Amino acid sequence: MAEPGLLTGWGRTAPTHAVSVEPGHLSDLRKLLETADGSGLIARGMGRSYGDAAQCAGGTVVRLAHLSAIGEIDEVHGTVEAEGGATLDALMRCTLRRGWFPPVTPGTRQVTLGGAVAADVHGKNHHRDGSLCRHVTALTLESPGGTFEVGPGKDPDLFWATAGGMGLTGIVSRATLQLIPVESELMVVDTDRFGDLDSVMAAMEEGDDRYRYSVAWVDCTSPGRRAGRSVLTRGDHALLEQLPVRRARALSSGIGDARLKVPRRLPAHPLNGPTIRAFNEAWYRRAPRRRHGELQPLGRFFHPLDGVADWNRLYGPRGFVQYQFAVGPDHADVVRRAVGLLSQRRLPSFLAVLKRFGPGDPGPMSFPMAGWTLALDLPVGPPALPDSLDELDTMVAEAGGRVYLAKDARLRPDLLAVMYPRSPELAAARRRVDPDGLLRSDLSRRLGID
Ligand SMILES: Cc1cc2nc3c(=O)[nH]c(=O)nc-3n(C[C@H](O)[C@H](O)[C@H](O)COP(=O)(O)OP(=O)(O)OC[C@H]3O[C@@H](n4cnc5c(N)ncnc54)[C@H](O)[C@@H]3O)c2cc1C
Repeated sequence: MAEPGLLTGWGRTAPTHAVSVEPGHLSDLRKLLETADGSGLIARGMGRSYGDAAQCAGGTVVRLAHLSAIGEIDEVHGTVEAEGGATLDALMRCTLRRGWFPPVTPGTRQVTLGGAVAADVHGKNHHRDGSLCRHVTALTLESPGGTFEVGPGKDPDLFWATAGGMGLTGIVSRATLQLIPVESELMVVDTDRFGDLDSVMAAMEEGDDRYRYSVAWVDCTSPGRRAGRSVLTRGDHALLEQLPVRRARALSSGIGDARLKVPRRLPAHPLNGPTIRAFNEAWYRRAPRRRHGELQPLGRFFHPLDGVADWNRLYGPRGFVQYQFAVGPDHADVVRRAVGLLSQRRLPSFLAVLKRFGPGDPGPMSFPMAGWTLALDLPVGPPALPDSLDELDTMVAEAGGRVYLAKDARLRPDLLAVMYPRSPELAAARRRVDPDGLLRSDLSRRLGID
C-alpha cells in the first residue's frame, strides 16, 4: 500500500515499504541508512504534505512520528530542542504553558519538526518573521554519509540545503528552535471584508506591517468584478493588559482539539462546484464588514482546519489538488489573473488563501520569496483543471515565481530549474552527504531532482 496521505486524487503510487523508528531507537535509523539499497529511502512525518514528497514507490518510507521527545525549554535563550518527529501540536502544548510559542506555524499544527524543516514552512507572519528555518539554531542530520551537526553558523551550505530540501539531504533527528515569548493564549484579531481583489491587496500592502499575522480568504468562485472578494484577518498575540480580568488567567496549553468529525457516510462528491459556491457565498456574507479587537483562541486563529478531523475526506474519492504559488511584489497581476482564470472557467476552490511574503530564507529550495502567495484547494474532476494548472505554472514561471513543492503533485519537470534556479546547490549538498543517491522520493523522481 502507498502511505496514506492527503494526496487523494492526482497521483497514485506503487507499493511502498514503511518502517517506523521507535522512541529511543535512533540507532535503528542509522542501520536503515547504512543498509539502504538503490530502491530509495525517504523520511515521513505526519504526511501533511499534499503531494508525493513523503512517498517512495518501490522503496522505503521511514516514519519518524514516534521519534518525538521534547527537551526542557532554555528559559534564558528561549530555545527548545526536540526530536524530528515531535509535532508542532505537542511542542505548542509544552511551550505555551511556560509562555513561549513556536516562531512560525503553518495552517495545521499536525506537522513534525522534521517535516516543517524539510519544507521550510511559512505561517501568517512571513511578512514579519520569515519562514521556520530562520528560527532554527541547530539540526542533527542523519544521512547515508554519516551524522552531521549543522546550523546557520556551522556548515551553513548543508543547513540551508536542508531547509526546504524535502528530506533529500538526510533525516532530521533533532532540531533546536528559537521560540517567541507570549503572555496569553488568545489573539487580538481584526477582521475586514472587501468586495474585490484589488481592494484587499491594497489594504494588505498598506497595513500588514502593523500586525504580526495576516491572511486573506479569497472567493474565487464569484463571477465578474466580485471575483476575488475577500475576508482579511490580521492579529497579534494578546497581551495580559488587553484581556478582561476574567480571561487573564494563567497560561495552560489551551489550543483546543478537533471537535468536529466528517461523517462516515457522505454523498459521492460532497464538495463540488455548486456546494463550494454556496459555501463561499455563505462564508463571505457571514463575515463582519469590519470587526476589530476580537479575542480569539489560538487554535481558531491559526488552525481552523484542525478543528475538523479528516476534513480531506470531504473531497470524496476523487480527492483534490492543492496548488500554491509565490510571485514577486511586481507581479501582483499574476494573482489577479489566477483568480480571474478560476472564476471564468468555473474551477471552484474551497479554500483560497492569499498572503504577503517578506524576504525569503537563504535556502536554495526554500519556497517563500518577497511578494505574494496564493494557495488553492481544487477538487479533482473538472476536465479543464489539468490544462488550467499547466497554464498557471507557465504564468508563474514567466513571472519569476515558483510553486510550493510541499503541495505539489503534478508540476512538469522542465519547470523545476526555472522556478528553483539554485537547485544545483541542493544537488551539490546531496553529493557530499549521500554520494550514492540513496535518498529519493516520488517527488524527487517525478521532478528529476535526482
Ligand atoms: C491543512 C494544512 C495546512 C497547511 N498550511 C501550510 C502553511 O500555512 N504553510 C506551509 O508552509 N505549509 C503548510 N502546509 C504544508 C505542511 O506544513 C508541510 O507539507 C509539512 O512539510 C508537513 O509536515 P509533515 O510532518 O506532515 O511532513 P510529511 O508530509 O510527512 O513530509 C514532508 C516532507 O518532509 C520530509 N520529512 C519529513 N520528516 C522529516 C525528517 N525528520 N527529516 C527530514 N525530512 C523529513 C519528507 O521526506 C517530505 O519531503 C499545510 C498542510 C495542511 C494539511
